[in-house]
Amino acid sequence: MSISKSHGGGKDNPLLQYVLNHSMREHPVLKNLRLRTMEESGNIMMVACEQSQFMANMAKLIKAKKALEIGVYTGYNTLNIALTLPDDGVMVACDISENYTNIGKKFWKEAGVEQKIDLRLQPAVKTLDELLAAGQANTFDFVFIDADKVSYDAYYEKSLQLLRKGGIIAIDNVLWGGRVLNPSPDDADTVAIDKLNKKLHRDTRINLSMLTVGDGLTLAIKL
Ligand code: SAM
Ligand code: CA
Repeated sequence: MSISKSHGGGKDNPLLQYVLNHSMREHPVLKNLRLRTMEESGNIMMVACEQSQFMANMAKLIKAKKALEIGVYTGYNTLNIALTLPDDGVMVACDISENYTNIGKKFWKEAGVEQKIDLRLQPAVKTLDELLAAGQANTFDFVFIDADKVSYDAYYEKSLQLLRKGGIIAIDNVLWGGRVLNPSPDDADTVAIDKLNKKLHRDTRINLSMLTVGDGLTLAIKL
């Protein structure tokens, strides 16, 4: 199995390049945000563009109106999902970095979706607790979990409460560059991801698929 990740270039992976050439339909503002993000030293954090397109298609398929992103970075996927939401849709975007998210804001505005994006700059667990306290359990259609890996289990449990039946939680980096095959006990990120992967496999509250797109993407569908 090969794990590939793409920000729009598959130069060292011709098959991935073929996939990109024959499937990407990137909105022009998304493309510009991707190119702007590539100027950042931490650009490896950006979601793979073909994975983001897949998630946007999933959100559209389930007619998502209310979405949540945990870990926004420069907001590529936040923008992609916001573009699929109806005019009265909302994307609650959780991050702790003003620097990263400021990069995306200009593009959100240019694409005409800034009014759909509710950016909350504080630890995501706090935002999820606030949403639950505000009575928003069972109201979200689509969640993307992509922030600090040691908190993945907390994000998953809280997101599952916030999600409606039939809604989707997408969890990124579930293969973690292949390190899940042999997690070192002192590697807290790998241990956390592997533990959650094992838990989800047994979790009767969801249906799931683990996909090898990007760095591994699990889709958990709430029953
Ligand atoms: N989903 C993004 C995209 O589409 O390109 C990539 C997200 S990046 C891998 C992870 C992000 O999680 C960073 O922007 C980081 O600031 C954020 N983050 C880290 N710890 C966090 C926390 N405790 N709460 C919220 N966000 C956090
Ligand atoms: Ca990621």
